[in-house]
Amino acid sequence: MDFTFNKQQELLRQTVRKFAEMELAPHEEEFSIHWIREVVDRVLERDVSDYLISTGKSPSGSIHIGSVRELIIADVIKRQLQEFGKNARTMFIVDDYDPVRSFPPGISLSLDEWAGVPYSEVPDEFGCHESFGSHWANEFIDTFAEFGLNPEIVWAHELYETEAMQDAVRVCLENTAVIREIMIEYVAHDFDEEQRRQYVESMKTWYPASVVCPKCGHLQAGVKGEIAPNRITYYNPETEEVSFECQACGHAGILERRSLRLKLTWRIDWPAKWYIFKVTCEPAGKDHAVKGGSYDTGLEVSRRVFGWSGPVKVPYEWVQIGGRDMTTSKGIVFRPRTWLDVAPPELYRFLMLKTDLQRTINVQPDRIPDMCDEYERFERQYYGVDDGDDTRRQLAKLLYPLSEPGQVRAAHIPKIPFKYAVLMSQLEPVLGHDVVVARCEETLRKLYKLKRLSKAVQSLILVRLKLAKNWVGQFGSANDRVDVPPSVPEDVRAILTEPDRAFLSKMTEVLRLSSMSDEETQAAIFQTAREAGVSEKQAFMTLYRVLISQKHGPRLGSFINMLGKDWVADRIESVV
Ligand SMILES: [Zn+2]
Ligand SMILES: [Zn+2]
Repeated sequence: MDFTFNKQQELLRQTVRKFAEMELAPHEEEFSIHWIREVVDRVLERDVSDYLISTGKSPSGSIHIGSVRELIIADVIKRQLQEFGKNARTMFIVDDYDPVRSFPPGISLSLDEWAGVPYSEVPDEFGCHESFGSHWANEFIDTFAEFGLNPEIVWAHELYETEAMQDAVRVCLENTAVIREIMIEYVAHDFDEEQRRQYVESMKTWYPASVVCPKCGHLQAGVKGEIAPNRITYYNPETEEVSFECQACGHAGILERRSLRLKLTWRIDWPAKWYIFKVTCEPAGKDHAVKGGSYDTGLEVSRRVFGWSGPVKVPYEWVQIGGRDMTTSKGIVFRPRTWLDVAPPELYRFLMLKTDLQRTINVQPDRIPDMCDEYERFERQYYGVDDGDDTRRQLAKLLYPLSEPGQVRAAHIPKIPFKYAVLMSQLEPVLGHDVVVARCEETLRKLYKLKRLSKAVQSLILVRLKLAKNWVGQFGSANDRVDVPPSVPEDVRAILTEPDRAFLSKMTEVLRLSSMSDEETQAAIFQTAREAGVSEKQAFMTLYRVLISQKHGPRLGSFINMLGKDWVADRIESVV
């Protein structure tokens, strides 16, 4: 992977660790799922024949996992509407006709050259896609299927070439006077008198669209903070002629609307898209959804320019990672792909669904094994494998099918606990892959009292081992890591005393005798220590030293069984 990626991951790991130290005992969050019913009820009031839930994102760099929250909200509304027998679908608009304002860290393209050019027309420096916009959008889109998302994908640069969008642009230009009024009402509402006077003055010559310069391809000039758009300077509704002057190269002209490429100002671009697709509902992050913000401006434009209500607004709070906001422009990004490398997708859906829309969700990657446990307890309650009170079961009935990316399986698929997989996956170098898998299978059979394991169960073992191995590599703490040396190092042998060796000898005899459960093995260590006359503390330390060259480590009873008691006995015999 590229340098930026590693650097970002390192930054992320540091943040995650820091947060984990701050909050030593994170409380289990309550379920707050009333929002699902509340939103669906509001959408149902629209009473239309086809329900369309839209989402969108500008491909300005790696799109972070927080944006998946919006797609999951949309997906769940769709699924619920379908449950009610309605036609419902979701859409994801890639806003690749937006102009570049900055590049994220690690991009080698020159900002001087490309700032102000639509993402769809900036080259993909990695050479694998047709544009910069396509590259980053596809990195995101490529994870949709795994998260159980299947929106229709719309590319804004293509949308702008359609008859419908060109017509919407014409309608907006013809309604410039109304749009100016709306902009003053919404944008200048909290300005002081002087600011307001200046804004009103500037709006006298303002038009709701800009021109992609036919000469240099820029839509605007300048970078973040000092942007000058190629705004239309005059529009003649009779002749449909557009006057413009490029702020990037100075090219100016008067041309017929249809011979130019135009883009609506973003506050107007949004309602135009809603209108074209007749969007029933669109979730929006708090920055856009704030009262009087771009969403409300858009709704007003919908009503007064396009003559319809616009979508049902669904505001939601952001997702933080390790207690920190993510920003693409600064490269503080946790990619959806990173999640899929270290955790099951259903767990992310579950986290998004069980939390109220008005609450920030703080995802802590270091807690993935605990969260997995929680989700799988919930899963067992859904299938009635575990007992739970009525409320829990009802909750599971609603939430579990919505959390699963695909169709819910008819029967429960037992899974090895994530924490168990974390340790087992690290034993592959000493035990070999096949032994590790066989041991996981044995554990599952015991745990769920099964005679044989189905193909589905077996293949999930492999998936889980891979996730666990990746997780411990990226987010595991020192306590999660075990490193079993291929043989007992010389320095460990050297410090073993006679009583230690006596204890170890007795221990091999006990281990060779018969198979023991984790608890029995744990108890046997205490018992053997007493018999050999060494302290319990010393006994455990000696065993950890022989196994992992450390003074402490994972719970020994289960760890010995993970390694296999004969393997452990052989190991001990190599030193006594
Ligand atoms: Zn590419
Ligand atoms: Zn130009």
